[in-house]
Amino acid sequence: MAKWIFLGPPGAGKGTQARRLARERSALHLSTGDLLRDAIEADSEVGQQAKAYMDEGGLVPDGVILDLVFWRLGQETESRDVIFDGFPRTVAQAEGLDERLGQAGDAVKKTLEFTLADEVIVRRIAGRLICKKCGANFHRDFLPPKREGVCDQCGAEALYQRKDDHPDVVRHRLEIYHQQAQPLRDYYAAQGKLVEIAADAPVETIYERLHAEL
Ligand code: AMP
Repeated sequence: MAKWIFLGPPGAGKGTQARRLARERSALHLSTGDLLRDAIEADSEVGQQAKAYMDEGGLVPDGVILDLVFWRLGQETESRDVIFDGFPRTVAQAEGLDERLGQAGDAVKKTLEFTLADEVIVRRIAGRLICKKCGANFHRDFLPPKREGVCDQCGAEALYQRKDDHPDVVRHRLEIYHQQAQPLRDYYAAQGKLVEIAADAPVETIYERLHAEL
């Protein structure tokens, strides 16, 4: 089954696209950010380890992330496509994933990199709203929910702004992203697996671009 990686800065629309594609293809959408937020919510050991890094927009240590990803893959009872979202973030994570997939005679199929200018991202993220219940994304200006504070998809009154979506924290996350992205780009380009997706476009257009690549 195909393993795709969605690479890109926070706020480039990776999560929205990954969720929709996963739904359509009955694929697993594996977002390490979502898994970590769940862990914090549950106050598990992983959550306690990750919280301080996440609040500051820093990266959670590779060992914690790899354990979490392998644990989640191990939960699967049947084989299906996987879309990795927000993972890997470092070459060590990419190597860990390759090694793990390689043991099962599997490999990453393609890495799709969402590209977008930093200023656009800060503007986008500042208005981002997320449903605590189902994870759907909205935006105060670009994709407002029909009723304020209420999720259009699941109906829960549970829309909130992530703590690390504050502009200063976003700038710090972007700095880290740029530092980390180049080696990852090089890593997958060397394997002939890197494809760029121009992400400064309406959601539908990006979706079509992705479809053409998958
Ligand atoms: P995200 O939802 O992908 O933007 O992730 C939110 C935060 O979770 C990041 O700013 C990091 O602190 C942490 N995080 C998520 N995925 C990873 C990863 N693969 N490696 C390290 N830290 C991660």
